[in-house]
Amino acid sequence: MRRLTVKDFIEYSAPCLICGKPSSIGLGFDAEYNAPLISIKGSVGTNFTYFDLKYGYTTDLKLYIFHRDNKFLTNDKRRLEEYLNARKSYLRAYCSSGCSQFATQSLSLHSSGQVALVSMRWERLIVPVGDGNNYYLTSYFGENKSVLDSRNLVGETQTLEIPLLPRDSFRDRAHLIDKLRTYLLYG
Ligand SMILES: [Zn+2]
Repeated sequence: MRRLTVKDFIEYSAPCLICGKPSSIGLGFDAEYNAPLISIKGSVGTNFTYFDLKYGYTTDLKLYIFHRDNKFLTNDKRRLEEYLNARKSYLRAYCSSGCSQFATQSLSLHSSGQVALVSMRWERLIVPVGDGNNYYLTSYFGENKSVLDSRNLVGETQTLEIPLLPRDSFRDRAHLIDKLRTYLLYG
């Protein structure tokens, strides 16, 4: 499976293939740890992505990840490692219209000062195809498969398990719809 830097992940997820809007980047958490947090939004600059991981009243924790070499900078390395591991933190991206979402495997840090490369875990694309019909394409990278749901206005669904179809297997929105329609017609 392909391994991504943080910059690769940002480029992979944006702009949204369906609505064309930029994606937001966040840190998601699989385990809660002393804080009812679901996700923290990051700021993506030209040269780095920044997360403000401040928690509690006094604990200041900053994480910068540089796009050029995937190196990170923090004000407290030991606490950052604890923070990421305890919460099983992962990278997520999502467009503001809610039609695409992406998630990686857990983030970890190398002692060399770089963020370890990450693999994609899952992604979900929601495609309106007119007349109240939607296609939902959810891809599970570890299982090398995608699940395609077609749902119409009155809630009738058709579900198909298909080979992995990640976002970058489509040239554009029209190509995506065309390919999914073909699967739904011919299985
Ligand atoms: Zn979108």
